[in-house]
Amino acid sequence: MNFSIFPFARTGLASLLACTLGLIAASAAAAPTPAYEKILKIDVHSHIFEDVPAIHALFARINVRTINVCVPGGDGHLALMDRVAFELYGKHPQLYPVTTTFDLLTRDEPAYAARTIAALDRAFARGAVAVKIWKEVGIEIKNRDGKFILPDDPLFDPIYAHLAKIGKPLHAHLAEPIDAWLPLDKDSSHYSYYSTNPQWHLYGKPEYPSHAAIIAARDNIMKKHPTLVVVGAHLGSLEHDLDGIADRLTRYPNFHIEVSARTRNLTRHPAQKVRALFEKFPDRILYGVDAGWMPHRRDTPPTAAQRQGHVNSLELRYRADWDYYAGQGETTYNNRQTEALHLPPAILEKFYHANAERIFKLDAAWKRMP
Ligand SMILES: [Zn+2]
Repeated sequence: MNFSIFPFARTGLASLLACTLGLIAASAAAAPTPAYEKILKIDVHSHIFEDVPAIHALFARINVRTINVCVPGGDGHLALMDRVAFELYGKHPQLYPVTTTFDLLTRDEPAYAARTIAALDRAFARGAVAVKIWKEVGIEIKNRDGKFILPDDPLFDPIYAHLAKIGKPLHAHLAEPIDAWLPLDKDSSHYSYYSTNPQWHLYGKPEYPSHAAIIAARDNIMKKHPTLVVVGAHLGSLEHDLDGIADRLTRYPNFHIEVSARTRNLTRHPAQKVRALFEKFPDRILYGVDAGWMPHRRDTPPTAAQRQGHVNSLELRYRADWDYYAGQGETTYNNRQTEALHLPPAILEKFYHANAERIFKLDAAWKRMP
């Protein structure tokens, strides 16, 4: 600390006190941003379904841990995903705590909720920290009458009630970015996804529920189960509406959001407004990336070069995110210029790890050897 910044300090108790207060203020203002490698970064939305030593090495070098999310529950891969995810967790409990999911294929069979709860309890006994629900609920699966099943369907209430009772969070990717309901737009940050995944692009398909209807159903889960901890993936699918996010965080004290695959949307809002959201809700926003390494979805096994390519792109993503959240001044994100948020160190620590540690009870998960 350089005392020469108080050249006019005089002797006496009052000036000594003023000087001390000044020093405290100065040190608070000057609290340095933690070094990138020093701060623990927990990526709460990861899909890694192969034991790739180069990924572990990257995580060790840049101080990343993940929560490995099994999803979806309707493509028949659930048992395989659980097996691979728990194997990875067993080998590297600090890197790969597991968020499991629940089967949707047997939803019309008797005792669906009871069987689902029993399966989830088995996953919790193996150390699963949370449960994922995916957008297939809302815009894909239908009931026997041919109607889309919304996420607040009574079918799922016993499951939500059970999660609330035992204190396991629901990690909810429900709905899609609003752009899914709008005409394809080359300037949209989701253009490449919807132009190559037309099945999820719902513009001009009035038979699908609206964005608002699915968001309302998501909110209704929290109304029906106010003690259920919900982590809204992808900014709670309100990436276009920061006021709407603030409104939900205010109305639902157990609602949180994570930023995975939507940092690119944040960079398009005014930095001052994004910063204000973090300052108002420092305990409610979590870090994540949503990078997938899912060899079981490929026709042929991945090559070493593809694995290394994934590691390289992961590293670039973590670094670009850090430059946006922690950096200062102009920065480049996805080839666009934007203003970095320069979040204060105390908020960075919560966003990057403390909130995830608390909400997913990671301390216990890291120590557990299944
Ligand atoms: Zn994902």
